[in-house]
Amino acid sequence: MTAEVIDGKAFAADVRARVAALVAKLKEEQGITPGLAVVLVGEDPASQVYVRSKGKQTVEVGMESFEHRLPADTDEATLLDLIAELNADARVHGILVQLPLPPHLNADLVINAIDPAKDVDGFHISNVGLLATGQKAMVPCTPLGCLMLLRDRLGSLSGRNAVVIGRSNIVGKPMAQLLLRDSATVTIAHSRTRDLPDVVRKAEIVVAAVGRPEMVTGDWIGPGATVIDVGINRIERDGKTVLVGDVHYESAARVAGAITPVPGGVGPMTIACLLANTLTACSRANGLPEPEGLTA
Ligand code: NAD
Repeated sequence: MTAEVIDGKAFAADVRARVAALVAKLKEEQGITPGLAVVLVGEDPASQVYVRSKGKQTVEVGMESFEHRLPADTDEATLLDLIAELNADARVHGILVQLPLPPHLNADLVINAIDPAKDVDGFHISNVGLLATGQKAMVPCTPLGCLMLLRDRLGSLSGRNAVVIGRSNIVGKPMAQLLLRDSATVTIAHSRTRDLPDVVRKAEIVVAAVGRPEMVTGDWIGPGATVIDVGINRIERDGKTVLVGDVHYESAARVAGAITPVPGGVGPMTIACLLANTLTACSRANGLPEPEGLTA
């Protein structure tokens, strides 16, 4: 078997086009422009690339982008003041604080200072609780993107056997919550899981969010399984730096029914879902219907 390639890049472009169409409608019919504020503290090169990309795509879908770049030695009080300002700003519907923050700042404290209704990353403790209890939440972008790809490929996820490898607050745990919410039977595997290949082999849905290059090989995958590879790992191969996932693509693609490539799979979905979340936050703030097909 050769797996179908799940084209996250094309799917993300479609999500952005749907967001852009709804933003245009919001402007025309309600006179409202959704706004996203991104806060970057320090000069981490990867974070700078992400923030630039987020700003560019925000503008491309017709939203307002507010960028706040603060020096690496910014103190907590200054950052909290800025967040309070953004919470109170009616033009701002979504607030994202780019992680990781410099070590002298308490990331939990900072994230929990964001108005939960504007927490488009879905990391505020209120949103975590709302998701866990099946209530309307802001859902973390990467797992939301994975869910969209899975629903598109499989339709109903009800009763399906899913294994999520990784239990981080950013990917693994919310991914498991979303699958559970769609009535899948969910196993969360992690670094202490025994007989991991056997656990993974039983799954119809495998989501790998580990951060270990090509750890999941084809012999771990059940025939026909849908494999979502969240991993983004930079490795040296043949003298070049290349991006690989947590799944060994070639061997897994021989067994799986469908698989996301790296790059071009889950990666592009994350920013697309950030834009979708900003639109959702804006719609909720204005008492308008949820944007169809763009929420969990
Ligand atoms: P993390 O380091 O916070 O969590 C990794 C998880 O993997 C942990 O829960 C740990 O228990 C588990 N783990 C580690 N070693 C393991 C092993 N040998 N066997 C089984 N489980 C093991 O990482 P994260 O933030 O969840 O990110 C995971 C990966 O996804 C990284 O490669 C990251 O770059 C990538 N990522 C991609 C996107 C995207 O937009 N595509 C977004 C976020 C993260």
